[in-house]
Amino acid sequence: MLKDIEMLTDNYNIIERFSIGKSVMQKDIPCLKIGKGKKKLLLSGAYHGLEYLTAAFLIKFVSNYTVKLMTETEYFGYDIKRLYSDITVYVVPMVNPDGVDIALNGLDITNEYHRHLISMVGIHSFNHVWQANSRGVDINHNFDAKWQMVVDKPSPSKYGGEYAESEPETRAITEFVRKEQFDMLLAFHSQGREIYYDFDGMTGENSVEIAKKMAEESGYAVCIPTGTASYGGCKDWFIKEFGKEGFTVEIGTGQNPLPMSMLDEVYDENAKIALCAMHECAYN
Ligand SMILES: [Zn+2]
Repeated sequence: MLKDIEMLTDNYNIIERFSIGKSVMQKDIPCLKIGKGKKKLLLSGAYHGLEYLTAAFLIKFVSNYTVKLMTETEYFGYDIKRLYSDITVYVVPMVNPDGVDIALNGLDITNEYHRHLISMVGIHSFNHVWQANSRGVDINHNFDAKWQMVVDKPSPSKYGGEYAESEPETRAITEFVRKEQFDMLLAFHSQGREIYYDFDGMTGENSVEIAKKMAEESGYAVCIPTGTASYGGCKDWFIKEFGKEGFTVEIGTGQNPLPMSMLDEVYDENAKIALCAMHECAYN
């Protein structure tokens, strides 16, 4: 992913790149910025280790959007030259780089963090199960939105941490969002081909209407979450804190990790969701 980002920013000077913070393991959490508009949309992905296909999608979307801006006027029917001047898109493809690393590569027992993790969690085989960060905290249960203990100790998933925003990955996002004051936020997860738009009965003013438009364009279902999925997530916090439109998009179907070979299959439907969000954020 970092190589792809480097290639993109080397080739296209309209893409700006910076880091919004560091993970527990001191990996950068990169952000790509593109557009000239006053309205601001945040697209984010890979909150969960097994869900790295969302990061691959976001990088490919930035790449294709940029190439289309150079060569075409429309992309999936959207006037992209106009979009480019009316909205600035910020893309954080991988909020949880340590979790993705563990999900892909397993644990390195020569690493002190990983040894500590084994002792806390009590299992040895971490790939194929790992959703959390490298302290065993599930980033998408660590936001300050009805934060509560779902699981009471470090775990492959669903441990919300000692307190809300205890993790550097969570704080990287919340500090960034507070600073930039985004008009809309999309958090990409896998899987289910679903769009969530609500937190505990709260929504942004146009959330339902926009969720329905995104669903129409993509064939995804509009959903209201129930149970633990509905607490402590990024879009929950965004809706609660700012009262604006926040969405979770569950890309693709199958068992996590969805394979990288599925990228082409999920690309178009999610590109339409991203473009729809850009359009609605700019003009609705
Ligand atoms: Zn997820």
